[in-house]
Amino acid sequence: MKSNQGAGGPPRGNPERTFSGLMERPVGKCTRCKAPAAVRLPSHNSMFCPDCFDQFFLTAVIRALKIVPLPREAPVAVAVSGGKDSLAVWDVLHRLGFETRGVHLDLGIPQFSEASIDAAREFAEKRGLPLAVHSLEELFGHPLPRIRSQVRMDICSVCGTVKRSYLNLLARQAGAGVLVTGHNLDDEAARLMGNLIHRRKRYLEKLYPFLAAAHPAQAARAKPLYRVDEAEIRAYTSLNHIRPAQGGCPFSRGATSTYYKTALLWMEGEMPGTKRDLLWGHIRENGPPQGDAFGSCERCGEPTGAPLCGVCRLKDRMENQDLKSAGRP
Ligand code: SF4
Ligand SMILES: [Zn+2]
Ligand SMILES: [Zn+2]
Repeated sequence: MKSNQGAGGPPRGNPERTFSGLMERPVGKCTRCKAPAAVRLPSHNSMFCPDCFDQFFLTAVIRALKIVPLPREAPVAVAVSGGKDSLAVWDVLHRLGFETRGVHLDLGIPQFSEASIDAAREFAEKRGLPLAVHSLEELFGHPLPRIRSQVRMDICSVCGTVKRSYLNLLARQAGAGVLVTGHNLDDEAARLMGNLIHRRKRYLEKLYPFLAAAHPAQAARAKPLYRVDEAEIRAYTSLNHIRPAQGGCPFSRGATSTYYKTALLWMEGEMPGTKRDLLWGHIRENGPPQGDAFGSCERCGEPTGAPLCGVCRLKDRMENQDLKSAGRP
């Protein structure tokens, strides 16, 4: 949810002035070059014309790359959902000269998944970039809606489990040692807030934007967009004529991250820079995690911190459910 409603009402002040993003009409001059401004960035106390905003965005990613070490000598896999974040990160890395290979996991959600694949394909074809598309049905045996109807679990955490595992597999197949995702400042600040509120200490260290591989078959995970927020990404895609899939996942309704994002948006409206102070301060103070090495799943051999990986455990749950439905013990 991107609205500023819902967390005790809208912020005070004039949203036209307070919120970052693309302006409907120029209302001032670019802070850098004095041309008509197109994007407002209250948290940086700036307004930029399209060219200076583009430079600002690229610089934010280049700064992120100081602690997100991407290789120049080997391909980098980009997890492409077809949404604005993944297309923006793919575009920037391509422009910065990295050898990128897109990987897309088709979740099999009617309409949403088709629109996502179309957007990813259109982006890749326009730039002549490689994109591997594989479906959850082909890899796991069932699309996400079928899993959702069968197991009584939070569907977003199930989706996270299968995406983590299969996107890692697809990155490996693409010959990449690093998997890049489009997680942005809003995603990560909201996740940090949720983990702090619920004292989920073991997840806090995972909020670092570069997680080294913990197993020979695991790609490192990188989030080069952790310094830019959703409004900035929306402005970047719009100014660069990138067409992300429209409409969100129908299963996202009620996702708890929405509440944290809404609360942070409200705070950002009152105190520009709040999201940045929260996340960047956490990253600065804690540094990269000293993660334990992973073992191999006893059944499928994929990386895991438990005897069985999340995907094999999910398969067991589905089979148990099948047996119960068939009336067997
Ligand atoms: S909203 Fe949930 S189910 Fe839908 S794509 Fe995102 S994580 Fe998956
Ligand atoms: Zn300018
Ligand atoms: Zn397994």
